[in-house]
Amino acid sequence: MSKIIIVGTGFSGSILARKIAEDCGRKVEVIEKRPHIGGNMYDEYDEHGILVQRYGPHFLNTNKYFIIEFLEQYAELFPHDTKLLSFIDGNYVRLPFNFRTMQQLVGAKKSELLLAKLRKEFYGRDRVPIFELIDSQDEDVRDYGNLLFEKAYRTYTAKQWGLNPEDIDKSVLERVPMAMSFDERYLNKDFQYLPKKGFSEIFKNMLNHPNIELKLNTDALEHIRFEETKHVITYDGEDVELLVFTGNIDELLGLKYGRLPYRSLDIRYTYENKKSILPEEIISYPQAPGYTRSTEYKKITYGLDQDIPVSMIATEYPLEYDPNDQKANIPYYPVLTDDSQRRYKMYLEEANKYGNIVLCGRLAEFKYYNMDICIEHALEKFEEIKQRLG
Ligand SMILES: Cc1cc2nc3c(=O)[nH]c(=O)nc-3n(C[C@H](O)[C@H](O)[C@H](O)COP(=O)(O)OP(=O)(O)OC[C@H]3O[C@@H](n4cnc5c(N)ncnc54)[C@H](O)[C@@H]3O)c2cc1C
Repeated sequence: MSKIIIVGTGFSGSILARKIAEDCGRKVEVIEKRPHIGGNMYDEYDEHGILVQRYGPHFLNTNKYFIIEFLEQYAELFPHDTKLLSFIDGNYVRLPFNFRTMQQLVGAKKSELLLAKLRKEFYGRDRVPIFELIDSQDEDVRDYGNLLFEKAYRTYTAKQWGLNPEDIDKSVLERVPMAMSFDERYLNKDFQYLPKKGFSEIFKNMLNHPNIELKLNTDALEHIRFEETKHVITYDGEDVELLVFTGNIDELLGLKYGRLPYRSLDIRYTYENKKSILPEEIISYPQAPGYTRSTEYKKITYGLDQDIPVSMIATEYPLEYDPNDQKANIPYYPVLTDDSQRRYKMYLEEANKYGNIVLCGRLAEFKYYNMDICIEHALEKFEEIKQRLG
């Protein structure tokens, strides 16, 4: 029988590996080029016992409880509402921008009228993208939208994406809306959790199955060959029955339509001999030069009662993804522009010609998936794969 190859051990690859191994009873080879599993969700304890998410802070948030139940098969979770502050004009204000932020930015007196106008215009809405404020017919609402845009969005976007806000897909910018209340939770989903011992444990347990053979430190592209005329795929010379690919689609197909743009992050760590460094677990810095946010992991995972005398902050410096640059060789975020989405479609058409490539996940599908969507999507893909494997 020919091989089932799964490339990548983030949520997409790990879920599909486990489901095929367990529910279909098939052997799978899971190939991962990094020295660890978990993709960008990987976390580990540092030398002080602080649990650090090495590829930036991740919070599980969803409106669908079955996502929580699914993950609880692999690790114990605990409820955790994410909290953020933004450092604007020398002061900390709450993110998402909410009614409290508004009072801080325009002053309590001026906020009274604005509050009434926002409540009326966006009645019944929980969170509103700031573009809707900017497009409002009301001059005061519009001015406030523009104030937020200039003080926070424009500069943050330029750093995060390396683009002007006008050039990037609106769906990306809409991800940081304004809360139409005093709600201080960064995310407004109903179920917000973290795994007690970190995300890596989930992946370790998920990939622990007798039908799964895991190979770390292996770039699948050095082993996969495409026979373009017959549309046959081999891995180390053996026929591949099914290739589940969760890496960059453009790299899989030899960059034939050019490299798709991704953003990367240079994450710099600073330790201090203090129990606490920042006033909140994450601080966003829209106006700072070069960096976007800092995370104090000790606050996320344990709170300050943990008896560790030092603390650490991880500060993110966004960069353009470049596989040959030591600091920028991990793709984090697909950059969605008209041109990149057009070229992605060309890659997709090319991949579909083979009939046995399943593309799944943030990189392979060139989409900004949050992990809950990524998990649900991988489970849906599995249903298609199950039909195919019979
Ligand atoms: C900084 C950051 C913060 C985030 N925060 C949140 C959050 O708070 N909440 C949330 O819900 N979501 C968050 N996300 C999104 C979340 O990380 C993704 O939804 C999820 O990790 C995607 O998983 P994936 O399996 O699709 O991709 P990945 O995790 O990127 O996995 C792809 C894997 O494929 C491997 N690979 C690629 N090419 C090859 C190859 N040629 N050979 C072998 N292996 C290969 C890679 O090494 C990697 O391990 C965040 C993302 C980022 C970048």
